[in-house]
Amino acid sequence: MKQKIFKIVIKFLSIGIMSTMMISCNSENKKDAEQNKSRESFKFLAEQFADIKIMRYQIPGFDSLTAKQKELVYYLSEAALCGRDITFDQNYKHNLLIRRTLETIYDGYKGDKTSEEWNKFVTYMKRVWFSNGIHHHYSNDKFIPEFTNEYFTELVKNTEGNFPIEKGQNINDLLAKIVPVMFDPKIDAKRVNQQEGIDLVKSSASNFYEGVTEKEVEDYYKNIIKKDNPQPISYGLNSKLVKENGKLVEKVYKEGGMYSDAISKIIYWLEKAATVAENDIMKNHLQKLIAYYKTGDLQTWDDYNILWVKDNDSHIDYVNGFIEVYGDPLGMKATWEAVVNFKDINATKRAQTISANAQWFEDNSPVDSKFKKKEVKGVTAKVITVAQLGGDCYPSTPIGINLPNADWIRKDHGSKSVTMDNITYAYDQAALGNGFMEEFCFSPEEIELQKKHGSLASNLHTDLHECLGHGSGQLLPGVSTDAMKNYHSPLEEARADLFALYYMMDQKMVDLGLMSSLECAKAEYNSYIRNGMMTQLTRVELGKNIEQAHMRNRQLIAKWCFEKGEKDKVIEKKTKDGKTFFVINDYQKLRNLFGKLLAEIQRIKSTGDFEAGKKIVETYAVKVDPELHKEVKTRYEKLKLAPYGGFINPVLKPVMESDKIIDVKVEYPDNYIEQMMHYSKKYSFLPTYN
Ligand code: ZN
Repeated sequence: MKQKIFKIVIKFLSIGIMSTMMISCNSENKKDAEQNKSRESFKFLAEQFADIKIMRYQIPGFDSLTAKQKELVYYLSEAALCGRDITFDQNYKHNLLIRRTLETIYDGYKGDKTSEEWNKFVTYMKRVWFSNGIHHHYSNDKFIPEFTNEYFTELVKNTEGNFPIEKGQNINDLLAKIVPVMFDPKIDAKRVNQQEGIDLVKSSASNFYEGVTEKEVEDYYKNIIKKDNPQPISYGLNSKLVKENGKLVEKVYKEGGMYSDAISKIIYWLEKAATVAENDIMKNHLQKLIAYYKTGDLQTWDDYNILWVKDNDSHIDYVNGFIEVYGDPLGMKATWEAVVNFKDINATKRAQTISANAQWFEDNSPVDSKFKKKEVKGVTAKVITVAQLGGDCYPSTPIGINLPNADWIRKDHGSKSVTMDNITYAYDQAALGNGFMEEFCFSPEEIELQKKHGSLASNLHTDLHECLGHGSGQLLPGVSTDAMKNYHSPLEEARADLFALYYMMDQKMVDLGLMSSLECAKAEYNSYIRNGMMTQLTRVELGKNIEQAHMRNRQLIAKWCFEKGEKDKVIEKKTKDGKTFFVINDYQKLRNLFGKLLAEIQRIKSTGDFEAGKKIVETYAVKVDPELHKEVKTRYEKLKLAPYGGFINPVLKPVMESDKIIDVKVEYPDNYIEQMMHYSKKYSFLPTYN
């Protein structure tokens, strides 16, 4: 599924690049300058624990919304928060029991709340909140508490409060149930098991199936799915499949069905939102979504997505539903998520400018003219400002979304591709001063350039890559699209990256008003080479080759250019204090090398030259210099950076005049524990077991 790759890639990026940074290049107008000022004094990093950093994000532009738009954002945000319990329960059936037990202890424990053991308990609780359950949000492995089960038993027994105990049971029953689940590493060890050869359904802890085997699930859906339907319904997307009295039954997520109590609340807020919708199109898709939540009907879900994807004019937008299927080992059942956002007009203009000039870029590329498209259409990506995150998008969030997921809807009706600029901005700001740049940049000038232009540079790179790069070029007649076989992805990504890199350094970018000077491009070249030659290796295990397609592509480009420019010292390998650096001496010559490699990779793709494609990937993209790898890992580990990040949500507070909302104010809390405890009190609607 396309969306899967996209989102994983994006999340992946967010770990690596976020250590690069920024501050916008074109703060020409006064408003921008003022906004930047208020953004500079904002505390983006809230706290760090385990392998996680908790950040805050701002909602720039919220105050410029009309009162009615603010009211709409408020209602959609409430709807986004009401499904939190669903995500916990979907991730693992004991998650709500565990979360509620931990929260009861946190509030009501009568013993020492300053001890080291207690701190370990609090860290565990924070991790459970972060992952919406007891399995790591990224690796899917169950994490085990660093305190003992004896200590845990003591906590439970010395707590005053209401534990989530079923009727007729006591605290000992609770402990008997919860202790093995939390402490035994063998029980439900993986949330999603992808290992071939074992029953994926039985060996995965996620709560989409119960009492059924993988084979039974497959047979069940094989009988329902009609193969020849050109508009296939996403069967199984919104249900749990269980065996009851020897029969397979789908428990559908809907009002009156599974998760009814939370879904009713979501509907309540969506209905309010529909009353202040910006226009009829929006009103229609909101009502369609409500109808879907009421019936659980997947045809209605498709109808909703078609209406939603066509709504490009509304300023406010949202994602709300059972959407991504990464949590299901069979990739069928979706986890609940929500995002509320509005258009970032200035940044969207940036993407539109690039798109509008797509033909010029195609005509002037260094590629052989017979491999160029005669008529090229740029894809416009929308840039958005996130106002609220919920469900599976909170606290850990993607930095880009491309929806809907159904292939036939994408083909027939298009898709919305969005990047979340205020989230990436927060990532970058939170990373400032963490020592990463200081460690891997060669000189203070390089750091300065990166601080000043890095953010815009990387946004422009992404725009060029997404809006133009992938869509450029054409295959010669008779050449198959899968001629590159397993080398397709790294070569395709290299092509898009090279297109972006080549044009970053073009005067046209300045002429179009996209950057104030080519200094911005220099920042991008520096960080690209630094990452491709060195810093991305922090994510590869020692002794392993590079597997991931984007990482392969980056090393391919960086290494090829380093080697081809070695004679002229275009990129120079330097050593300072026993540390390795790669320094660009000649940006124009490097640009020419990018152009040459682009022409070659386009030739490989256009002519279907598999042998050449294989050779260039195997020579430059896969193998790692073990000495350098070790050095980079050691330098990185010394910085003690948390590889994963997530966010505290801003709070939207309605200003009332009798029972009417006349305005909405934004507050930016900075206490992660308080927000989580508050959510568990205010937005917890589901029973402990569903
Ligand atoms: Zn790409």
